[in-house]
Order: sequence, then C-alpha cells, then structure tokens
Amino acid sequence: MIQQQERIASLCEQLKMACLATEWPGLAQQAAQDEVSFADFLEKLLNRELAAREQRKRATLLKLATMSAVKTLEQFDWNAGSGAPKAQILELAHLAFVERAENVVLLGPSGVGKTHIALALAYRAVMAGHKVRFITAADLMLQLAAARAQGRLKEYFNRAVMAPKLIVIDEIGYLPFGREEANLFFNVVAKRYERGSIVLTSNLPFTQWAGAFADDQTLTAAMLDRLLHHAHIVQVSGESYRLRDKRKAGQAARRVTGEK
Ligand code: ADP
Ligand code: MG
Repeated sequence: MIQQQERIASLCEQLKMACLATEWPGLAQQAAQDEVSFADFLEKLLNRELAAREQRKRATLLKLATMSAVKTLEQFDWNAGSGAPKAQILELAHLAFVERAENVVLLGPSGVGKTHIALALAYRAVMAGHKVRFITAADLMLQLAAARAQGRLKEYFNRAVMAPKLIVIDEIGYLPFGREEANLFFNVVAKRYERGSIVLTSNLPFTQWAGAFADDQTLTAAMLDRLLHHAHIVQVSGESYRLRDKRKAGQAARRVTGEK
C-alpha cells in the first residue's frame, strides 16, 4: 500500500500533478464511503487538479502584473459622492475592450478613485487569464530610459510593452516628460495602437497634455490621435476620497472630544 502510494506520488510528480498527489487519498476515501463510480471519482480528481492549476496560473499572472495594490470594484463605494460613472465602469469590467485592443482613459482630479478603478480593471483581466502589466508613467520612463542607455530598448519593448495583453499606465501628467521621454511615450502608444489595450489615468484634461509632453503640440496631437481612436473616456469627478476620509476622521474626533 505504502509502496503503491509512493509510486502514485512519483507518477503525479512526473505528470506535474502536484494537487492530485496530495488530494487523491482523501478523495479516494470519500469516494469509497459514498460508493460513487470510478468515473465520478476520476472526474472529481481531474477537476480538482485543473482548478489548482488555474489558481496557480492566476497567482503567477498577478505577480507578473506588478500591481501597486489589489483593489476591486466590489470594494468601490459608488455612493461615496464621487462622480464615477458606474454603468460605464461595470461595462468595461466585462473586458470586451481588452479583446478589441481598445484603450481606456480615466480622467479626474486627485483622490477620486482613478487608480483604484484602473487596478480593479487590471485585477479582472488577471482573473480572466490575461497577461497584465501595471506601471506608473514615471516608472515606465525610468525603465525605458535605462533600457535605451543599455542598448536594450527593442528587447524592453518586446518584453514589457508589447507582451502584455493589457498595460495600465498610471498618473500621466503628474511629472512632466522631457523631450526624449515624450518621444519614448509616443512610441509606447504608437506600437500598441490597434494591437493591445492601454488603460491610462491622468489628472490633466487632454487640452493640457501637451504641457506634460515637453510642450510639443505636434507629438501630443499625434499621440492622442492614436490613443483616442478606439478609446473609452471615463470622467471621474467629485471630492477626493482621501480628503473625505480625513474630514470624516476629523469630525469623529471632534465628536469624541466635544469640540465644535
Ligand atoms: P486617484 O488615483 O484618482 O488619485 P485613488 O484611486 O488612488 O485616487 O484613490 C485614493 C484612495 O481612496 C485609494 O485608497 C482608493 O482605494 C480610495 N478610494 C477612492 N475612491 C473610492 C471609492 N469610491 N470607494 C472606495 N475607495 C475609494
Ligand atoms: Mg492615482
């Protein structure tokens, strides 16, 4: 019996069925108790292995996505007074835009939930089995500049810009780009145009984007042209959730101390 268990464990290892190796004795015992058929037992076993494999794949994809945090739409408070267009965002969460290589641009002031929504869309895409990459515009620039300095720009583009099915670039416009950076960013948008989705967030309305792109009106127009050709613009308005939280904490503290 022990020998047989060892042989099965070895077979599972060779077949790379790690879950099955540990789960089969329990499932076999259960099957004997319930007097189910061999076929039912086998089906249950294979389903268990498949589920474990899919979970491992999602865990790997989540790691590769380098998200700054895991945020979900279920955690998003639609009644927070923020003007997040719920129907539009829930529609985007079906991820048809990813299949169609369309872009999403989340615009609005600081603290209204743009990054939260972008992270939530990224998370949905990971759970759907897509290769996703989340990066801030500033980090993307650092990585692009480093790759270029090392003469590995092409390799970087293939691996980090083109390979993901969805790339999320957070915080366009917080730090204005220099001329070279603006050119590199243009290339990111141009290369992915009609080939892969980009989700962007920005606190700047499009009319002010040139200011963040080295004041180059021509380059900015050409970039926006590609970016917005197949794009969903999500305007998020309202009060900063961070400030709202702070204000609420302040009110609570005042209530406790009896202060007005
Ligand atoms: P932005 O990117 O627009 O500056 P964030 O997405 O970073 O804002 O939001 C700031 C913080 O507030 C984050 O921790 C985010 O999870 C939270 N937050 C913002 N809006 C909401 C909301 N409507 N419901 C729940 N949490 C929110
Ligand atoms: Mg943000």
